[in-house]
Amino acid sequence: MLILDSSDEDWRAKARCASFDPDLFFSPGSLEHRVAKRICRDCPVRRECLLFALETPIDHGVWGGMTERERRRFRRHWGAEWRALIA
Ligand code: SF4
Repeated sequence: MLILDSSDEDWRAKARCASFDPDLFFSPGSLEHRVAKRICRDCPVRRECLLFALETPIDHGVWGGMTERERRRFRRHWGAEWRALIA
């Protein structure tokens, strides 16, 4: 059962990335992606962030530790089951 609600955006106040350069998360470079994903790994709101990015048509940036390409692949691979994996 999904226990997270992506419409509740209080999670943004706890975002670990708030203290880092946003270019790390929105640059097309693979080095920046690796650094951003490392920051996400220890973020206390990673699940909320990833859920938001999966439910919202965000077409760029690292969110919840995944690039857009990874999110697309994740949704495509798991179909309707992806929510259960994050909850
Ligand atoms: S998971 Fe990553 S992108 Fe999302 S709020 Fe946390 S640090 Fe920011």
